[in-house]
Amino acid sequence: MAEEATYDVVIIGGGAAGLAASIYSVRAMLKTLVIERTALGGQILYTGEIENYPGFPEPIGGPELAMLYAKQATRFGVEFQYDTITHLELEGPIKKLIGEEGEYTAKTVIITSGGEHNKLEVPGEEEFSGRGVSYCATCDGNFFRDQDVTVVGGGDAAMDEGLYLTRMTNSVTVVHRREELRASKILQERAFGNPKMSFVWNSAIKEIKGNGDVGSIVVENLKTGELSERETTGVFVYIGFHPINDFMIGAIDLDPAGHVVTDIQMQTSVPGVFAAGDVRTYSERQLANAVGDGVAAALAAYRYISEG
Ligand code: NAP
Repeated sequence: MAEEATYDVVIIGGGAAGLAASIYSVRAMLKTLVIERTALGGQILYTGEIENYPGFPEPIGGPELAMLYAKQATRFGVEFQYDTITHLELEGPIKKLIGEEGEYTAKTVIITSGGEHNKLEVPGEEEFSGRGVSYCATCDGNFFRDQDVTVVGGGDAAMDEGLYLTRMTNSVTVVHRREELRASKILQERAFGNPKMSFVWNSAIKEIKGNGDVGSIVVENLKTGELSERETTGVFVYIGFHPINDFMIGAIDLDPAGHVVTDIQMQTSVPGVFAAGDVRTYSERQLANAVGDGVAAALAAYRYISEG
């Protein structure tokens, strides 16, 4: 007798994209498993208050929203498994996922493993995370109204988010390790032309200090070695973002930055395998987009199975 897949859909990652996909998948009567390595919710677990998610006129706590997603998925019969997937075998109609705790088979796979912001790895970063240290200006900018904040990095994300922060803060100081930016010319022009933005070149943050909340940073001039302390209440870190992709290298096409390549229906290079949210190429890295991507991926998986 031919081998049968245990699940119609296995979703790797229980963040917003994965949980949204699971709700649509199970409501399409597909047997659905979500595999999560740590805690359901993904990036929103690290967001104190979410103010920009449509439908919530009052801010909602990230962990609270994560719990609501999980509750909704559970109510419809989604199954959950805590495991870390280590590799994928995607050839043929039955996809095999190998984890540290077990093996799983499915007709379709939705990859929603997300990503992680690169960290400065300096003293104070961890301690003040969520209390002045942030990786998301669009999420947290409003908490820094009329304050003097710092952005770290010289790429598109640093300039984009720095410019966004000028709308509500008093000043934005960019600390960058070289004396030229990596960001696109148009963003550079906008940043240099914005009177609220200033630049500290050839410099690196060595320590983030404060008393409960961030109060100052210790900055090293990388050319002279000189250390100085600067007052600031917010440190926004934009030194790159890495997708969580170690388990799929070689099994699926990735873009040069390591994101899963998809079409607009979330189809990857392997038929029956979809990707959604921050792990996919061109993601906007916003909660609403992750949810939308997850829904699109679930609908595409449903079509793939029903057109069989
Ligand atoms: P990125 O382009 O890789 O830039 C990272 C920046 O952080 C660089 O300036 C880099 O310095 C600096 N950096 C890296 N490691 C550091 C460290 N340990 N300490 C201090 N500084 C460090 O990353 P990104 O800005 O997140 O952008 C990622 C991708 O998304 C890019 O392809 C970008 O074009 C795209 N994106 C586009 C937009 C847009 O078009 N509006 C917005 C956001 C992101 P060096 O320059 O010295 O290497």
